[in-house]
Amino acid sequence: MRLFAGLKGIRAGRAFALLAIIFVLAFGGTVALVVLDQQRVINATTRLQEQTVPEIIRYQRLARNLEQLRQEGERLFAATTPQARKQAIFVVTLVSSHPSLLEHRESAELARQVERFLVDVVRQSASDPLALAKHYEEWQRLAARLGLLVDDVSVQGTNLAYVDLGDVSAAMHQARFKLAAALAMVGLFLVVFLILLRAHLIHPLQRIDRALSDLGVDRPPPEFKPSATLEIQAVEDAIGELHASLLKNEEARLALEKLANKDGLTGLANHRHFMLAADAELQRAQRYQRPITVGMADLDSFKQLNDTYGHAAGDAVLRAFSALMLDTLRQSDLICRYGGEEFAFVFPESSLAETVMLAERFRALCADYDIRLADGRLVRVTMSMGVADASDCPIEVALKRADEALYQAKDQGRNRVVAAGK
Ligand code: GH3
Ligand code: MG
Ligand code: MG
Repeated sequence: MRLFAGLKGIRAGRAFALLAIIFVLAFGGTVALVVLDQQRVINATTRLQEQTVPEIIRYQRLARNLEQLRQEGERLFAATTPQARKQAIFVVTLVSSHPSLLEHRESAELARQVERFLVDVVRQSASDPLALAKHYEEWQRLAARLGLLVDDVSVQGTNLAYVDLGDVSAAMHQARFKLAAALAMVGLFLVVFLILLRAHLIHPLQRIDRALSDLGVDRPPPEFKPSATLEIQAVEDAIGELHASLLKNEEARLALEKLANKDGLTGLANHRHFMLAADAELQRAQRYQRPITVGMADLDSFKQLNDTYGHAAGDAVLRAFSALMLDTLRQSDLICRYGGEEFAFVFPESSLAETVMLAERFRALCADYDIRLADGRLVRVTMSMGVADASDCPIEVALKRADEALYQAKDQGRNRVVAAGK
């Protein structure tokens, strides 16, 4: 997922902070809307409690009074004695002047009308016994109007509660949707956050981990897919630099190792390095039962050469002799400056007879080889050499045998090769 493709890079810290701000704003906004809905619910229930319920009670009382008015009228028409009628008219007067009736215009008017009508009927009934019967029909119309008004007033009271309860219900519904939206938003942000975390932090860190485990001088430089986050880019660049400095260090180490293994004057292997390499070579040959020989060579009358031409000339001769050996002998042969004007050899894959022939050829070549000194003069140097079989003994023993053969060569007059007997 390349969300930041095309950009040079973005700081992961900033990107995540930006995401967090967007999330907090969106989530906070939705929660604020939910809180507003809750406030609507609280307002509606408070109104219900403090205004609507007392109002409903008032309407109920009104309905009860109207109903009582109707009942008293009925009682009046059913009464058989003037006393009972007077009692009924007294209650009618009392009820129709009740404050709850007077507050409601329509009820007050109807109550006044009923009261006037009943008072009138009672007065007429005093002189006319049929007055009640005559007006009963009219009373029934008034009683029906009272009944209708009772229903009306009851419905009005109930309606008041409906409005508030409807408001509460609507607010609760909306809050439910907003709450669901807020939760969905949290989920969505969580998913986006995890995807970004995986793509731009966890995966690059895993790549870095693999690159660090693979880092080595014998490995190619680590390669990374271009990363979108600057922090990761910085770490990847640092790993590239680390690899480059590892290579440099390795080069320096190899150069030092070469210097430590070489003789400074001739460039041949030194004694220490030769002994390690020769021992390994002997062990390999002995394990596979291959022929192997060693040799010790010493320049003849070198002291005299030094005395005649000077020490610097002696050094030049040592260098020239070493170069001649390197040119003439096989790549697989080990040669070292054993010390002073003495040289040691290992000849792998060579029998003693072959080594004698090889050494003899080299001795002859050396004896005929003109070495030019710095001042232009030419000198020649001869060498004596002892060789010995090394296929059945440690390197030290084989070299000792070759050294003894070398002594014999010196004893026998120098400039010769002697093979050690078994
Ligand atoms: P031999 O034929 O018996 O080997 O006689 P030699 O004179 O070669 O032997 P000797 O051991 O008497 O002398 C070796 C000389 O080699 C003595 C020393 O000054 C010289 N020599 C040793 N190392 C160096 C070197 O690095 N440079 C020079 N110029 N001379 C060296
Ligand atoms: Mg010598
Ligand atoms: Mg010597």
